[in-house]
Amino acid sequence: MTIQTALISVSDKSGIVEFAQALAQRGVALLSTGGTAHLLAEAGLQVTEVAAHTGSPEILDGRVKTLHPRIHGGLLARRDDPVHLQTLKDQNIPPIDLLVVNLYPFQQTVAKPDCILADAIENIDIGGPAMLRSAAKNHGSPAGGVTVVIDPADYPRVLAEMDGPGRQPSYGLRLELAAKVYAHTAAYDGAIAAYLSSLAAREPAPAEVPEREAWPRVLTMQMRREQALRYGENPHQGAAFYRDARVGTGLLAGYRQIQGKELSYNNIADADAAWECVRSFQTGACVIVKHANPCGVALGADALSAYRQAFKTDPTSAFGGIIAFNTPVDEATARAVSEQFLEVLIAPSYSGAALSLLATKKNVRVLEVPLGTAHNPFDLKRVGGGWLAQDPDNREAAEADVRVVTRLAPTAGQMHDLLFAWNVARFVKSNAIVFCGQGMTLGVGAGQMSRIDSARIASIKAEKAGLTLAGSAVASDAFFPFRDGLDVVADAGATCVIQPGGSIRDDEVIAAADERGIAMVFTGVRHFRH
Ligand code: 5GP
Repeated sequence: MTIQTALISVSDKSGIVEFAQALAQRGVALLSTGGTAHLLAEAGLQVTEVAAHTGSPEILDGRVKTLHPRIHGGLLARRDDPVHLQTLKDQNIPPIDLLVVNLYPFQQTVAKPDCILADAIENIDIGGPAMLRSAAKNHGSPAGGVTVVIDPADYPRVLAEMDGPGRQPSYGLRLELAAKVYAHTAAYDGAIAAYLSSLAAREPAPAEVPEREAWPRVLTMQMRREQALRYGENPHQGAAFYRDARVGTGLLAGYRQIQGKELSYNNIADADAAWECVRSFQTGACVIVKHANPCGVALGADALSAYRQAFKTDPTSAFGGIIAFNTPVDEATARAVSEQFLEVLIAPSYSGAALSLLATKKNVRVLEVPLGTAHNPFDLKRVGGGWLAQDPDNREAAEADVRVVTRLAPTAGQMHDLLFAWNVARFVKSNAIVFCGQGMTLGVGAGQMSRIDSARIASIKAEKAGLTLAGSAVASDAFFPFRDGLDVVADAGATCVIQPGGSIRDDEVIAAADERGIAMVFTGVRHFRH
């Protein structure tokens, strides 16, 4: 039985045109898949596309090309079995006598340093190994069978035997090539298995993580239980704290608890919010947090004055709060903070006298945390059935980044307050409106579903705290969708505003600011926080 039909489907196309030409010269009909068929046709060869042969187009980006009974029937029918041969006739399936296949280059793909999981997966050949296994299984008997070639180095041997006395590859060659196929497909699957198991065991390389185009297909984390917590946000919820093995700095990477009761779930969450906020300031600052929102933030020449100003913003909310400093805490500051009820105190260091004083307040949890500059590689948020991952929002604004959009430009002092307010707003839950003046927060409106309500709440809180908003600076974490929000802050006494801009009604809002004598700047950056 001479070779009448060959199916050629190769990724490594070296030598394939010459081999196909040699086959064609010997009267062999050529069947081929898309890319290979194209190459052969370009070389002037008569070739039938597998899609035309099966009547099924290649689909799913080539994932399904040759997986068809007209291919596998042609490869698998026993050549010495009359029933099989009759079935081929009945089903109108031509036998395929020679299969030339080599596989998608999986091993080469995963060896590349920038290989991402998606590339690896698409380089797992499915139809190729299936055909190879079919053809190799049916290498047949001395009476006849399928010849299967996986290695371009074997092309000349096949041609030589076709030209030899038997006019077709011998049983010995077919057997040898079939064995070669199974060794090859076994190694191929072994490489896939090794790659996938290495992924399962591996944490994502840093380069793979935050690039927008290259979020890892599989997010593996290394979380170690640091502490079983008494309960979660509420007493009926069990909870534990897990440390992320990859994060080098941040509150929970390096904190040392010097004294006080065990940290609770809410303590950790709020301490984290306070710490992230306070360490974002380049100069000495104090941040007081309640329920994950800053309720007082101030800069100060020393820790004590920063604390006094921060506390003034909202003394009611500061009760039972978390207080964080980005400068060392001295005795005077320790005395001042311990005059009120606080849950957690955080600072990069404490003087000996401060610690002795704090020791008399046994319940206060005192944390020493190195400042550090690194951020989490990404933020994770639990949603039903999965997680949302995003880059952390650590975009800071500088004067050079903002654009004045009103007739009035802010003065140097106003610009200072605007940038301070803008930085605080980053750490306030949306919708966030933050009034500031003289390096301190005057009113914080957080977590409302409408921006105008956040603006109203911020001004009500300032009024309650006895703080005047006349001449204040306001930050809005996202654009004002209408002029009404701007009118509220203007009514309260604000004279300058910082916001991202980008609303379709920006013109209306800018006109309102001009009308109210407000200097407004756009940052072009939004800081939603949920
Ligand atoms: P071509 O360049 O001819 O379009 O594709 C050749 C490659 O496709 C070969 O490496 C062959 O193993 C592979 N191949 C053939 N049929 C199928 C199939 O049905 N599914 C997949 N995933 N690969 C196939």
